[in-house]
Amino acid sequence: MDIIIAKNCGLCYGVKRALELAKSTRRRQRGNVFTLGELIHNPQVIAQLEKEGIHSIENPGSVKTGPVIIRSHGVAPRVYKLLELKKIKIVDATCPIVKKIQRLVERLTWENKEVIIVGNREHPEIKGLIGYSRGKGRIIENEAQVQSLPRRKKRAVLAQSTQDIFLFSRIVAALVEKTECLEVHNTICHSTQTRQKSTSELAAQVDVLFIVGGRSSSNTNKLYEISRRIQPNTHFIESASEITPQMLRGAKKIGLSGGASTPPEAIEEAVARIRKSYDRQSQRENIVPWQS
Ligand code: SF4
Repeated sequence: MDIIIAKNCGLCYGVKRALELAKSTRRRQRGNVFTLGELIHNPQVIAQLEKEGIHSIENPGSVKTGPVIIRSHGVAPRVYKLLELKKIKIVDATCPIVKKIQRLVERLTWENKEVIIVGNREHPEIKGLIGYSRGKGRIIENEAQVQSLPRRKKRAVLAQSTQDIFLFSRIVAALVEKTECLEVHNTICHSTQTRQKSTSELAAQVDVLFIVGGRSSSNTNKLYEISRRIQPNTHFIESASEITPQMLRGAKKIGLSGGASTPPEAIEEAVARIRKSYDRQSQRENIVPWQS
């Protein structure tokens, strides 16, 4: 039995940076530290942060004291204003790549273009991005929604940083039919693209693939959907304890991948669980390096 871990998986630069900023704030600051929303879509890491006095809150209006950390997804301009009015200290951990997308939405809006943002309207990054469009942006989640759009001479389209590249391409193709001059900005971040590519390559090589990560993580969900298209025997697990012997039955090659908010320990625990299950069955196994 071989266990193969995707070449590119696990914590991305933006999430690592946000975690480091939270920890350095914790070291410098007495009392409670708050994050606007969960810093990372991973229940185990969130529980650990709670123990360290880094609490997640949802409503910026309810904050009475700071510092408040803005997570890698970023927030709309009104949230900065609200915190500034309350004189709350802000630690801005917005991923620089997301910041760049926010600036792009702002610029396109100033140029008076209709801005189409491809993403999940409930996702915090999208809630933040739309705030930079001064009411002129439009969120599109699927191809069907494009059909209800009127024809336009000019439009600009961009994507949530963790969008599925295939879905984005299909929406762009549908928009071309509705727009004379379409400006396309591929804002899917490099880290997301390499994770999606590694996971699809791995899905084609293995008998079963485990996607490890928080269920509320958008990019981890995308990895699951991408993998399922290639390898129907894909399982989305939040923790190693969800791996059962039935899932491993008959599998000679087992793949593991994780999203941008999956810490390395979560992957290591999944490897240990698979090993243990095989040890019980007295079978031989190796961990082999990635081969693309
Ligand atoms: S997925 Fe990309 S854009 Fe999003 S936080 Fe990570 S590095 Fe930044």
